[in-house]
Amino acid sequence: MSDQRSHRLRLSWGGATDQGRVRANNQDAMYADWGLFVVADGMGGHQGGEVAANLAVRAVTKAERSSTNELRDAVAEANRLVHDTAIDQPELHGMGTTLTVLAISQQGDENQFVVLNVGDSRVYRYHADQLEQITDDHSYVAELVRRGEIDDEAAAVHPYRNMLTRAIGVNADVEIDEWSLEPVIGDRYMLCSDGLTNELDDSEIAQQLANGEDAGATAKALVALANEHGGRDNSTVLIVDVQAEPHPTDDDPPSAAEDDVEDSSQPAIQAPASPEPSSAETFQVGARTSTVKQRSWLYDQVGISLGTALIALVLVVTSAVMVTTIGWYARSGYHLDVVANHVVIQKGRAGGLLWFEPTLEEWTEIQISELADTDRSRVTNSGHMSTLSEAQSFIANLRGRLTNAGDGS
Ligand code: MN
Repeated sequence: MSDQRSHRLRLSWGGATDQGRVRANNQDAMYADWGLFVVADGMGGHQGGEVAANLAVRAVTKAERSSTNELRDAVAEANRLVHDTAIDQPELHGMGTTLTVLAISQQGDENQFVVLNVGDSRVYRYHADQLEQITDDHSYVAELVRRGEIDDEAAAVHPYRNMLTRAIGVNADVEIDEWSLEPVIGDRYMLCSDGLTNELDDSEIAQQLANGEDAGATAKALVALANEHGGRDNSTVLIVDVQAEPHPTDDDPPSAAEDDVEDSSQPAIQAPASPEPSSAETFQVGARTSTVKQRSWLYDQVGISLGTALIALVLVVTSAVMVTTIGWYARSGYHLDVVANHVVIQKGRAGGLLWFEPTLEEWTEIQISELADTDRSRVTNSGHMSTLSEAQSFIANLRGRLTNAGDGS
Protein backbone atom coordinates (compact mmCIF):
# COMPACT_ATOMS: atom_id res chain seq x y z
CA MET A 1 0.00 0.00 0.00
CA SER A 2 2.54 2.54 1.05
CA ASP A 3 5.43 2.99 -1.31
CA GLN A 4 7.88 1.14 0.88
CA ARG A 5 5.92 -2.12 0.63
CA SER A 6 7.43 -2.67 -2.79
CA HIS A 7 10.94 -2.00 -1.52
CA ARG A 8 13.45 -3.96 0.40
CA LEU A 9 15.12 -1.93 3.08
CA ARG A 10 18.72 -1.73 4.02
CA LEU A 11 20.59 -0.09 6.83
CA SER A 12 23.79 1.85 6.58
CA TRP A 13 25.60 3.20 9.59
CA GLY A 14 28.64 4.99 10.88
CA GLY A 15 29.94 6.03 14.26
CA ALA A 16 32.52 8.17 16.01
CA THR A 17 33.79 8.41 19.55
CA ASP A 18 36.25 10.78 21.20
CA GLN A 19 37.54 11.33 24.70
CA GLY A 20 36.90 15.05 24.41
CA ARG A 21 39.11 17.86 25.66
CA VAL A 22 39.06 17.41 29.42
CA ARG A 23 38.86 13.74 30.33
CA ALA A 24 42.05 11.71 30.50
CA ASN A 25 40.48 8.62 28.93
CA ASN A 26 37.43 7.44 27.03
CA GLN A 27 34.93 5.48 29.12
CA ASP A 28 32.38 5.28 26.30
CA ALA A 29 32.12 2.12 24.22
CA MET A 30 30.15 1.44 21.07
CA TYR A 31 29.42 -1.43 18.77
CA ALA A 32 27.70 -1.77 15.42
CA ASP A 33 27.17 -4.63 13.08
CA TRP A 34 24.38 -5.87 10.93
CA GLY A 35 21.16 -5.19 12.85
CA LEU A 36 22.67 -4.41 16.27
CA PHE A 37 23.80 -1.01 17.52
CA VAL A 38 25.00 -0.33 21.05
CA VAL A 39 26.35 2.66 22.99
CA ALA A 40 27.54 2.48 26.61
CA ASP A 41 28.91 5.27 28.83
CA GLY A 42 30.85 3.80 31.74
CA MET A 43 31.50 5.33 35.13
CA GLY A 44 33.79 4.49 38.02
CA GLY A 45 37.43 5.13 38.82
CA HIS A 46 40.46 2.84 38.44
CA GLN A 47 39.32 1.81 34.95
CA GLY A 48 35.90 0.77 36.30
CA GLY A 49 34.15 2.89 33.67
CA GLU A 50 35.98 1.33 30.73
CA VAL A 51 35.53 -2.17 32.13
CA ALA A 52 31.81 -1.73 32.85
CA ALA A 53 31.07 -0.28 29.40
CA ASN A 54 33.03 -2.98 27.58
CA LEU A 55 31.64 -5.88 29.64
CA ALA A 56 28.10 -4.64 29.01
CA VAL A 57 28.55 -4.13 25.26
CA ARG A 58 30.23 -7.52 24.97
CA ALA A 59 27.38 -9.25 26.84
CA VAL A 60 24.84 -7.84 24.40
CA THR A 61 26.83 -8.67 21.27
CA LYS A 62 27.43 -12.28 22.36
CA ALA A 63 23.77 -13.00 23.02
CA GLU A 64 21.13 -14.46 20.74
CA ARG A 65 19.24 -11.52 19.36
CA SER A 66 16.57 -12.56 16.91
CA SER A 67 13.74 -11.76 19.31
CA THR A 68 13.03 -8.86 21.64
CA ASN A 69 12.92 -11.31 24.57
CA GLU A 70 16.47 -12.47 23.83
CA LEU A 71 17.69 -8.88 23.57
CA ARG A 72 16.04 -7.97 26.85
CA ASP A 73 17.64 -11.03 28.48
CA ALA A 74 21.01 -9.93 27.09
CA VAL A 75 20.70 -6.50 28.73
CA ALA A 76 19.69 -8.16 32.02
CA GLU A 77 22.70 -10.48 31.66
CA ALA A 78 24.96 -7.47 31.05
CA ASN A 79 23.66 -6.01 34.31
CA ARG A 80 24.41 -9.23 36.25
CA LEU A 81 27.88 -9.48 34.73
CA VAL A 82 28.90 -5.90 35.57
CA HIS A 83 27.34 -6.15 39.03
CA ASP A 84 29.03 -9.48 39.91
CA THR A 85 32.41 -8.36 38.54
CA ALA A 86 32.21 -5.17 40.62
CA ILE A 87 31.57 -7.25 43.74
CA ASP A 88 34.30 -9.83 43.00
CA GLN A 89 37.01 -7.27 42.29
CA PRO A 90 37.45 -4.59 44.96
CA GLU A 91 39.25 -2.18 42.61
CA LEU A 92 36.18 -2.21 40.34
CA HIS A 93 33.70 -1.66 43.16
CA GLY A 94 31.04 0.91 42.29
CA MET A 95 31.50 0.73 38.54
CA GLY A 96 28.48 0.97 36.28
CA THR A 97 27.43 2.00 32.80
CA THR A 98 24.60 3.27 30.69
CA LEU A 99 23.48 0.87 27.96
CA THR A 100 21.48 1.81 24.89
CA VAL A 101 20.57 -0.72 22.22
CA LEU A 102 18.90 -0.34 18.82
CA ALA A 103 18.32 -3.66 17.06
CA ILE A 104 16.31 -5.34 14.36
CA SER A 105 14.12 -7.99 15.90
CA GLN A 106 11.44 -10.34 14.70
CA GLN A 107 8.02 -9.56 16.16
CA GLY A 108 5.41 -11.92 14.78
CA ASP A 109 5.83 -11.80 11.02
CA GLU A 110 7.44 -8.39 11.01
CA ASN A 111 10.89 -6.98 11.42
CA GLN A 112 10.85 -4.08 13.83
CA PHE A 113 13.35 -1.85 15.47
CA VAL A 114 13.54 -2.49 19.17
CA VAL A 115 15.11 0.09 21.47
CA LEU A 116 16.27 -0.89 24.96
CA ASN A 117 17.64 1.66 27.39
CA VAL A 118 19.11 2.04 30.85
CA GLY A 119 20.73 5.36 31.86
CA ASP A 120 21.11 8.70 30.10
CA SER A 121 22.58 7.77 26.76
CA ARG A 122 19.91 8.41 24.14
CA VAL A 123 18.24 7.25 20.95
CA TYR A 124 16.82 9.89 18.62
CA ARG A 125 14.81 9.44 15.44
CA TYR A 126 14.98 12.04 12.69
CA HIS A 127 11.76 11.53 10.76
CA ALA A 128 10.08 13.83 8.24
CA ASP A 129 12.36 16.74 9.18
CA GLN A 130 11.51 16.36 12.86
CA LEU A 131 13.88 15.29 15.61
CA GLU A 132 12.28 13.10 18.23
CA GLN A 133 13.94 11.79 21.38
CA ILE A 134 12.82 8.18 21.76
CA THR A 135 14.38 7.31 25.12
CA ASP A 136 13.83 8.91 28.53
CA ASP A 137 16.93 9.78 30.57
CA HIS A 138 17.22 7.95 33.88
CA SER A 139 18.76 10.93 35.59
CA TYR A 140 17.90 13.09 38.56
CA VAL A 141 17.35 16.26 36.48
CA ALA A 142 15.25 14.41 33.88
CA GLU A 143 12.98 13.27 36.73
CA LEU A 144 12.70 16.90 37.87
CA VAL A 145 11.77 17.97 34.31
CA ARG A 146 9.20 15.17 34.00
CA ARG A 147 7.64 16.26 37.29
CA GLY A 148 7.49 19.84 35.98
CA GLU A 149 9.77 21.18 38.72
CA ILE A 150 12.41 22.63 36.37
CA ASP A 151 12.51 23.33 32.62
CA ASP A 152 14.97 22.10 29.99
CA GLU A 153 17.11 25.22 30.25
CA ALA A 154 17.56 24.82 34.01
CA ALA A 155 18.26 21.11 33.53
CA ALA A 156 21.06 21.84 31.05
CA VAL A 157 23.09 23.73 33.66
CA HIS A 158 21.95 21.91 36.80
CA PRO A 159 24.89 20.89 39.04
CA TYR A 160 23.49 17.35 39.39
CA ARG A 161 22.84 16.81 35.69
CA ASN A 162 25.25 13.85 35.59
CA MET A 163 23.59 12.01 38.46
CA LEU A 164 21.88 8.84 37.25
CA THR A 165 18.84 7.23 38.83
CA ARG A 166 19.31 3.96 36.94
CA ALA A 167 22.43 2.27 35.51
CA ILE A 168 23.76 -1.14 34.50
CA GLY A 169 25.71 -2.93 37.27
CA VAL A 170 24.63 -0.88 40.26
CA ASN A 171 21.99 -3.31 41.58
CA ALA A 172 21.50 -7.06 41.14
CA ASP A 173 18.44 -6.40 38.95
CA VAL A 174 17.62 -3.55 36.63
CA GLU A 175 14.46 -2.19 35.05
CA ILE A 176 14.84 -1.85 31.27
CA ASP A 177 12.85 0.62 29.15
CA GLU A 178 11.68 -0.71 25.81
CA TRP A 179 10.23 0.68 22.57
CA SER A 180 9.18 -0.92 19.31
CA LEU A 181 9.38 1.13 16.09
CA GLU A 182 8.56 0.47 12.47
CA PRO A 183 11.47 0.87 10.05
CA VAL A 184 10.58 3.61 7.55
CA ILE A 185 12.67 4.52 4.50
CA GLY A 186 14.41 7.85 5.01
CA ASP A 187 14.42 7.67 8.81
CA ARG A 188 17.71 8.35 10.50
CA TYR A 189 18.40 7.05 13.99
CA MET A 190 21.07 8.33 16.32
CA LEU A 191 22.47 6.70 19.46
CA CYS A 192 24.66 8.94 21.59
CA SER A 193 26.24 9.42 24.99
CA ASP A 194 25.55 12.47 27.16
CA GLY A 195 28.90 13.97 26.12
CA LEU A 196 27.10 14.98 22.92
CA THR A 197 23.77 16.12 24.36
CA ASN A 198 25.37 18.17 27.15
CA GLU A 199 27.25 20.19 24.52
CA LEU A 200 24.65 20.45 21.72
CA ASP A 201 20.95 21.25 21.91
CA ASP A 202 18.30 19.52 19.81
CA SER A 203 18.25 22.17 17.06
CA GLU A 204 22.03 21.88 16.54
CA ILE A 205 21.72 18.10 16.40
CA ALA A 206 18.79 18.28 13.95
CA GLN A 207 20.75 20.64 11.71
CA GLN A 208 23.60 18.11 11.43
CA LEU A 209 21.26 15.17 10.85
CA ALA A 210 19.60 17.11 8.01
CA ASN A 211 22.89 17.95 6.29
CA GLY A 212 22.63 15.22 3.63
CA GLU A 213 26.00 13.65 4.53
CA ASP A 214 26.33 9.92 5.07
CA ALA A 215 26.11 8.35 8.52
CA GLY A 216 29.85 8.19 9.18
CA ALA A 217 30.56 11.79 8.15
CA THR A 218 27.61 13.07 10.19
CA ALA A 219 28.71 11.14 13.30
CA LYS A 220 32.22 12.58 12.99
CA ALA A 221 30.86 16.12 12.49
CA LEU A 222 28.68 15.84 15.61
CA VAL A 223 31.55 14.60 17.79
CA ALA A 224 33.78 17.38 16.42
CA LEU A 225 31.08 19.95 17.31
CA ALA A 226 30.85 18.59 20.87
CA ASN A 227 34.61 19.18 21.16
CA GLU A 228 34.29 22.69 19.70
CA HIS A 229 31.67 23.50 22.33
CA GLY A 230 34.05 22.46 25.12
CA GLY A 231 34.33 18.68 24.92
CA ARG A 232 33.86 18.35 28.67
CA ASP A 233 33.05 14.64 28.47
CA ASN A 234 33.68 11.69 26.18
CA SER A 235 31.24 11.83 23.28
CA THR A 236 29.99 8.99 21.13
CA VAL A 237 27.60 9.10 18.18
CA LEU A 238 26.28 6.19 16.14
CA ILE A 239 24.00 6.93 13.19
CA VAL A 240 21.82 4.39 11.40
CA ASP A 241 20.07 5.25 8.11
CA VAL A 242 17.08 3.30 6.84
CA GLN A 243 17.37 3.23 3.07
CA ALA A 244 15.67 1.62 0.10
CA GLU A 245 17.60 -1.27 -1.38
CA PRO A 246 18.17 -0.53 -5.08
CA HIS A 247 15.78 -2.59 -7.22
CA PRO A 248 17.26 -5.91 -8.36
CA THR A 249 17.52 -6.49 -12.11
CA ASP A 250 14.58 -8.33 -13.66
CA ASP A 251 16.36 -11.63 -14.21
CA ASP A 252 17.59 -11.93 -10.60
CA PRO A 253 16.17 -15.12 -9.10
CA PRO A 254 13.84 -14.43 -6.16
CA SER A 255 15.76 -14.78 -2.91
CA ALA A 256 14.92 -17.25 -0.16
CA ALA A 257 13.92 -14.35 2.05
CA GLU A 258 11.23 -13.33 -0.42
CA ASP A 259 10.02 -16.92 -0.81
CA ASP A 260 9.20 -17.62 2.77
CA VAL A 261 7.41 -14.35 3.35
CA GLU A 262 3.72 -14.53 2.51
CA ASP A 263 3.01 -10.89 2.92
CA SER A 264 5.33 -8.82 0.77
CA SER A 265 4.71 -5.86 3.04
CA GLN A 266 7.37 -7.19 5.39
CA PRO A 267 10.50 -5.16 4.88
CA ALA A 268 13.43 -7.54 4.49
CA ILE A 269 16.29 -5.58 5.89
CA GLN A 270 19.67 -6.22 4.39
CA ALA A 271 23.16 -5.68 5.62
CA PRO A 272 24.69 -2.78 3.72
CA ALA A 273 26.96 -3.58 0.83
CA SER A 274 29.75 -1.57 2.37
CA PRO A 275 29.52 -0.88 6.07
CA GLU A 276 31.14 2.32 7.23
CA PRO A 277 34.77 1.60 7.92
CA SER A 278 34.59 3.75 11.03
CA SER A 279 35.42 2.47 14.47
CA ALA A 280 32.04 0.86 14.65
CA GLU A 281 33.15 -2.74 14.36
CA THR A 282 35.42 -2.84 17.37
CA PHE A 283 35.13 -2.03 21.02
CA GLN A 284 36.48 1.45 21.16
CA VAL A 285 38.38 2.52 24.20
CA GLY A 286 40.20 5.60 23.09
CA ALA A 287 42.92 6.54 25.59
CA ARG A 288 44.98 9.32 24.15
CA THR A 289 47.29 11.08 26.53
CA SER A 290 46.07 14.22 28.19
CA THR A 291 47.56 16.03 31.14
CA VAL A 292 44.58 18.30 31.71
CA LYS A 293 43.08 16.12 34.44
CA GLN A 294 46.37 15.91 36.34
CA ARG A 295 46.82 19.66 36.19
CA SER A 296 43.40 20.43 37.55
CA TRP A 297 44.07 17.94 40.33
CA LEU A 298 47.22 19.88 41.14
CA TYR A 299 45.38 23.21 41.21
CA ASP A 300 42.88 21.69 43.64
CA GLN A 301 45.68 20.51 45.91
CA VAL A 302 47.49 23.83 45.87
CA GLY A 303 44.32 25.63 46.90
CA ILE A 304 45.12 29.21 45.97
CA SER A 305 44.04 31.74 48.55
CA LEU A 306 44.39 35.50 48.06
CA GLY A 307 47.41 35.91 50.35
CA THR A 308 49.45 33.19 48.73
CA ALA A 309 48.32 33.73 45.18
CA LEU A 310 51.69 34.73 43.82
CA ILE A 311 53.67 31.93 45.43
CA ALA A 312 50.99 29.47 44.50
CA LEU A 313 51.06 30.66 40.92
CA VAL A 314 54.82 30.06 40.62
CA LEU A 315 54.42 26.67 42.27
CA VAL A 316 51.62 25.74 39.93
CA VAL A 317 53.49 26.83 36.83
CA THR A 318 56.61 24.93 37.88
CA SER A 319 54.59 21.92 38.85
CA ALA A 320 52.61 21.94 35.65
CA VAL A 321 55.82 21.72 33.65
CA MET A 322 57.01 18.89 35.86
CA VAL A 323 53.70 17.12 35.51
CA THR A 324 53.92 17.31 31.75
CA THR A 325 57.42 15.82 31.71
CA ILE A 326 56.73 13.00 34.13
CA GLY A 327 53.37 12.50 32.52
CA TRP A 328 55.01 11.95 29.21
CA TYR A 329 57.42 9.37 30.62
CA ALA A 330 54.80 7.60 32.73
CA ARG A 331 52.38 7.40 29.84
CA SER A 332 54.81 6.56 27.07
CA GLY A 333 54.67 3.00 25.85
CA TYR A 334 52.31 0.15 26.56
CA HIS A 335 52.06 -3.07 28.54
CA LEU A 336 49.74 -6.05 28.73
CA ASP A 337 47.55 -6.55 31.76
CA VAL A 338 44.61 -8.63 32.93
CA VAL A 339 41.43 -6.75 33.88
CA ALA A 340 38.24 -8.58 34.87
CA ASN A 341 39.82 -11.78 33.53
CA HIS A 342 40.39 -10.24 30.07
CA VAL A 343 43.76 -9.57 28.46
CA VAL A 344 44.02 -5.83 27.78
CA ILE A 345 46.55 -3.35 26.44
CA GLN A 346 47.36 -0.58 28.90
CA LYS A 347 48.93 2.72 27.94
CA GLY A 348 51.69 3.73 30.31
CA ARG A 349 54.08 2.01 32.71
CA ALA A 350 52.96 -1.04 34.64
CA GLY A 351 52.07 -0.07 38.21
CA GLY A 352 51.87 3.60 37.28
CA LEU A 353 54.26 6.30 38.39
CA LEU A 354 53.39 8.87 41.04
CA TRP A 355 49.76 9.70 40.34
CA PHE A 356 49.81 8.58 36.74
CA GLU A 357 47.73 5.45 36.45
CA PRO A 358 47.98 3.59 33.17
CA THR A 359 44.89 4.00 31.00
CA LEU A 360 43.09 1.20 29.24
CA GLU A 361 43.97 1.42 25.55
CA GLU A 362 42.40 -1.69 24.09
CA TRP A 363 40.07 -4.29 25.51
CA THR A 364 40.26 -7.79 24.00
CA GLU A 365 37.88 -10.72 24.02
CA ILE A 366 40.71 -13.03 25.13
CA GLN A 367 40.15 -14.37 28.63
CA ILE A 368 43.20 -15.31 30.67
CA SER A 369 41.49 -18.53 31.79
CA GLU A 370 41.31 -19.86 28.21
CA LEU A 371 45.06 -19.45 27.62
CA ALA A 372 47.55 -22.28 27.98
CA ASP A 373 49.96 -21.96 30.93
CA THR A 374 52.85 -20.97 28.67
CA ASP A 375 50.79 -18.21 27.05
CA ARG A 376 49.59 -17.02 30.43
CA SER A 377 53.15 -16.50 31.61
CA ARG A 378 54.04 -14.88 28.29
CA VAL A 379 51.36 -12.28 29.04
CA THR A 380 52.55 -11.81 32.63
CA ASN A 381 56.18 -11.45 31.59
CA SER A 382 55.66 -9.43 28.41
CA GLY A 383 57.01 -6.25 30.03
CA HIS A 384 57.14 -2.78 28.52
CA MET A 385 56.44 -2.22 24.82
CA SER A 386 57.29 1.05 23.16
CA THR A 387 54.59 1.05 20.47
CA LEU A 388 50.93 0.15 20.26
CA SER A 389 51.51 -2.00 17.19
CA GLU A 390 54.03 -4.09 19.11
CA ALA A 391 51.38 -4.80 21.75
CA GLN A 392 48.74 -5.44 19.09
CA SER A 393 50.84 -8.00 17.26
CA PHE A 394 51.49 -9.77 20.57
CA ILE A 395 47.70 -9.97 20.99
CA ALA A 396 47.24 -11.14 17.39
CA ASN A 397 49.73 -13.92 18.11
CA LEU A 398 47.85 -15.03 21.21
CA ARG A 399 44.58 -14.96 19.31
CA GLY A 400 46.09 -17.03 16.51
CA ARG A 401 47.23 -19.76 18.88
CA LEU A 402 43.79 -19.79 20.56
CA THR A 403 42.12 -20.32 17.18
CA ASN A 404 44.51 -23.13 16.27
CA ALA A 405 43.91 -24.86 19.61
CA GLY A 406 40.15 -24.55 19.03
CA ASP A 407 40.50 -26.26 15.65
CA GLY A 408 42.08 -29.26 17.37
CA SER A 409 45.01 -29.08 14.95
MN1 MN B 1 29.25 10.63 29.68
